[in-house]
Amino acid sequence: MKAPPFQYHRPQTREELGALLASLDNAKIVAGGQSLMPMLNLRVLAPDHLIDINRIPELAGIRETVDGIEIGAMSRQADVLSSPIIRNQLPLLARALEHVGHIQTRSRGTIGGSCCHLDPSAEQPAICAALDAEFIATGPNGRRVIAAADWFHGLLQSALDDQEFLEALRFKPWAKGHGYGFAEYARRHGDFAIAGAAALLEVDGTSQITRAALVVFGVESSPRRLHKAEAGLIGQMIREVAVAPIVDAARALDPMEDAHVTADYRRHLAGVLIGRALRDTCSILERSQ
Ligand code: FAD
Repeated sequence: MKAPPFQYHRPQTREELGALLASLDNAKIVAGGQSLMPMLNLRVLAPDHLIDINRIPELAGIRETVDGIEIGAMSRQADVLSSPIIRNQLPLLARALEHVGHIQTRSRGTIGGSCCHLDPSAEQPAICAALDAEFIATGPNGRRVIAAADWFHGLLQSALDDQEFLEALRFKPWAKGHGYGFAEYARRHGDFAIAGAAALLEVDGTSQITRAALVVFGVESSPRRLHKAEAGLIGQMIREVAVAPIVDAARALDPMEDAHVTADYRRHLAGVLIGRALRDTCSILERSQ
């Protein structure tokens, strides 16, 4: 099918974008178009106005700032994946991006689009949750910084309001040499994952865990951090990590049921994948000790 009729706008600056969002009703931003255009063609959405943000240069780019690493919302997934800054300082994000779609979709698709579309099994929003990213939104009342814990408002729903756009994401890198692990199950490489998990650990000089982050995605409508299980890891020795309680915590989530898999199978996957991600993390750290 083809998209329903819409008026097309192509702002050249953030200010023009802000003015269009403030003045138009039933408008949608199009970034890489890799999620939005299929939804228009399937008539899942029928915006009256499409605002193309591909010609606003300041919305793209990866920069190190005093507040951490800032990735412009319009940064193409392929550019984020190949960035030396990301590979060195946010290696978990680079690892996850290898699983996102295909080179063709990654060369158009943007990190901001994925984090605004919020498919439950999208990898980038899940890694933002794991890394406690900050989302920098701009609207009629200026800029606001939204913590990852406040970004996810349910299925395909971010914290942005209609007249706001996502300008950038900001990450505070973990300590050099931290451990990370990523696991997902998709029917074919490049397909959306059925479910996935990621883990991050920092240890002190005695190989005792000092910091942990665990996230499961594609299981509930938004990525879920396992905060209680993370707290249980603090103080454990990397060689003696108790994985079973972490697997139980993942299995205690309230999985979605859909045409792809049952809730029970998703629950099983959540346990298997977080266990795999955590073991990978521990082995990276053991090898580096
Ligand atoms: P668009 O499709 O342009 O927009 C998506 C939504 O975000 C729209 O609602 C739009 O209004 C909004 N939006 C975009 N940018 C902004 C902004 N700056 N401010 C406010 N709102 C904004 N994704 C995965 O995570 N994993 C996969 O395995 C995967 N596989 C794929 C396979 C195929 C064949 C295809 C076509 C897509 C796949 N995707 C996958 C989706 C892909 O990663 C999309 O690029 C991503 O979901 C959306 O990014 P986009 O830039 O294309 O956004």
